[in-house]
Amino acid sequence: MNANIIRKKTKVVKVGNVKIGGNNPIIVQSMTNTPTYDIEKTVRQIRKLEKCGCEIVRVSVPDKKSSMAIKSIKERVKIPIIADIHFNYRLAIMAIENGANGIRINPGNIGDKNRIKKIVDCAKLHNIPIRVGVNSGSIKKSILEKYGEPCIDALVESCVENVKILENFNFYKIKISLKSSDVLTTVEAYKKISKIFEYPLHIGITEAGTIKTGTIKSSVGLGILLYLGIGDTIRVSLSGDPVEEVFTAYKILYSLGLRKRGIEIISCPTCARTEIDVVKLANKIEKKYKYLEKPVKIAVMGCVVNGPGEAKEADLGIAGSKEIGVIFKKGKILKKVPVDNIEKEFFIFLDDYLRNA
Ligand code: SF4
Repeated sequence: MNANIIRKKTKVVKVGNVKIGGNNPIIVQSMTNTPTYDIEKTVRQIRKLEKCGCEIVRVSVPDKKSSMAIKSIKERVKIPIIADIHFNYRLAIMAIENGANGIRINPGNIGDKNRIKKIVDCAKLHNIPIRVGVNSGSIKKSILEKYGEPCIDALVESCVENVKILENFNFYKIKISLKSSDVLTTVEAYKKISKIFEYPLHIGITEAGTIKTGTIKSSVGLGILLYLGIGDTIRVSLSGDPVEEVFTAYKILYSLGLRKRGIEIISCPTCARTEIDVVKLANKIEKKYKYLEKPVKIAVMGCVVNGPGEAKEADLGIAGSKEIGVIFKKGKILKKVPVDNIEKEFFIFLDDYLRNA
């Protein structure tokens, strides 16, 4: 019997032409780290993100020139753009008027209700959604004082309060996020909020850390949530090149069977039986096919004794031996090849497989 993830029921919200929530695929998003007003740099980065499968991109809008830049950026990229706004309602309105497909705000830090209403009216007019983005660093003072720290209940209460502000203006094109840099706090907060609202959830571990640490924290946190059926769009937050966020997001989704894209390497940890340079070859394959869209599982195993059997689920695999190694498909040997030639032969098989996949 195979394990199946049953996703929690959520409403569908559209960001540009991308649908989030309901039965739609879990959408992968990222965020640029260029100055948004530097149109050339930002467009270049978004195109790189598009190439590795990013489906929505968020840009920071800290000033007027960044807000205005959205118009030109949009003309040169394909994926929807979300403007990330803090404090300044005028910037939010300007971003929407310049074509942002969605905005992320924390209504509580925008100020008085009239200002929030102006943003909501503008979002209604342009038919775009708003993400209520609460995180542990932006919980309002009175809630923090009540709980003493940015704990699970503080995040949830802050989120509920912010969503209600929008609902009180009859605005329902809402997505929600409530992130902490602490994995368990984030998981518990999302579990609670998913019982309260049916709005689609944007999930992520905020400020997760450097590429390695952040990948581990995000994989654990998002893995738990996704396994529980929680999450309609994901952003892996890493201190590094944002393309790594997208690769990591797909790997998390791939490992749970929720999205299939790109190469998944199954490689053995190596042991005293190892007969080929597994590490070198696995890294070489992963690098060579980094931007592949087609889903494919490739095995690189150190010995023929256990390799093909242990990597039965691989679409194609290689297993080493002292003299004659094997190339195999779904555990069955396709060809026996002298090890000196095996790498070259394997790439011929792999390219052929990908052409016909
Ligand atoms: S596949 Fe062979 S070489 Fe690799 S860990 Fe297993 S037994 Fe060792």
